[in-house]
Amino acid sequence: MAPRSKFITTFAAGYTRHKTKMKEIDWSNLSFGFMSTDYNVRCNYHNGAWGEIEVHSEDTINLSMAATCLHYGQEAFEGLKAYRCPDGKVRIFRATENAARLQATCRGLVMPEVPTDMFVEMVKKVVRLNERFIPPYESGATLYIRPLLIGTTAQVGVHPASDYLFMIFVTPVGPYFKGGFATNPYVITRDYDRSAPLGTGCYKVGGNYAASLRANTWAHEQGYSCEFYLDAREKKYIDECGAANFFGIKDNTYITPKSNSILPSVTNMSLMQLAEDLGMRVERRQIPLEELGTFEEAGACGTAAVISPIERIDDPETGKSYVFSHDGQPGPISTKLYKKLVDIQYGIEPDEHGWTTVVIE
Ligand SMILES: *Cc1c(COP(=O)(O)O)cnc(C)c1O
Repeated sequence: MAPRSKFITTFAAGYTRHKTKMKEIDWSNLSFGFMSTDYNVRCNYHNGAWGEIEVHSEDTINLSMAATCLHYGQEAFEGLKAYRCPDGKVRIFRATENAARLQATCRGLVMPEVPTDMFVEMVKKVVRLNERFIPPYESGATLYIRPLLIGTTAQVGVHPASDYLFMIFVTPVGPYFKGGFATNPYVITRDYDRSAPLGTGCYKVGGNYAASLRANTWAHEQGYSCEFYLDAREKKYIDECGAANFFGIKDNTYITPKSNSILPSVTNMSLMQLAEDLGMRVERRQIPLEELGTFEEAGACGTAAVISPIERIDDPETGKSYVFSHDGQPGPISTKLYKKLVDIQYGIEPDEHGWTTVVIE
């Protein structure tokens, strides 16, 4: 039985809350930033058990400066979206997969697992409480949902915390493709790795992002959309495109890397299924770097963009450029997969795999 929610609406001293007024929101010009919404939901883990689900109106947290998350990186997060659909309903996509992945991350960082029921209930609750912030369908914008879990015990010794805080906030975000579905250039980085071969790359943790910031900044400075990672051990195989999974298309086959150091993407998992549904072959295996030259199409995939089609991948070390699009236009198969997945998320196409959940009727 889920505990009843406790509403907490205290305000932190010295913090003036900016109440976002609806008339201030320009839905079609939202960025991927942060906008304060009405409520967030939280749950504390104490004495080996999860407490009550709390509803807060405050978007600051009160934390000891000695909390383990601040020193030793006991921090896990997730990312999903709520979609206002053309039929007027609000849907979320495969939230139980996000719960399962967070549980895997918890095991990886020795944190208590957030039960699936509690995770999904809190996602639904925070979406419903912030209904007025869910962008209209026509804007192409969505409500981004960010669950996060942190170790809160005050201690300087290096060992797992005993107390944790799990929370979920939401914020409206703009459409990923402002000028329409288009391709982007990527650059291979050999000077920086985002994760070690037996490290935390397969977990969704802040530490991997901290490790990627230098490569990401370098790639942006060179005019690229994002950095592209090879396997950390040998630099022979494809790993990930920044914070998105990679896929290549050739001979009616969807090919995506198998690696211990990439994050198992829910979007990629869904695209593999849809490719199969479309009669394509699906291969999950090591992809040698040179194989890039044989792909007809390539893309980066994740919740933010669904698919970000790749224009080209440059390799500064060899001077090679692997080109997948000569006119900035995405390939036909990437376009078909993109449309299929987005239409399922928006309740336009039949949801044959039971991936969506209606949160608001
Ligand atoms: C979140 C994330 C992805 C994409 O996963 P989705 O579940 O599809 O959003 C890919 N790579 C990394 C490193 C990530 O953190």
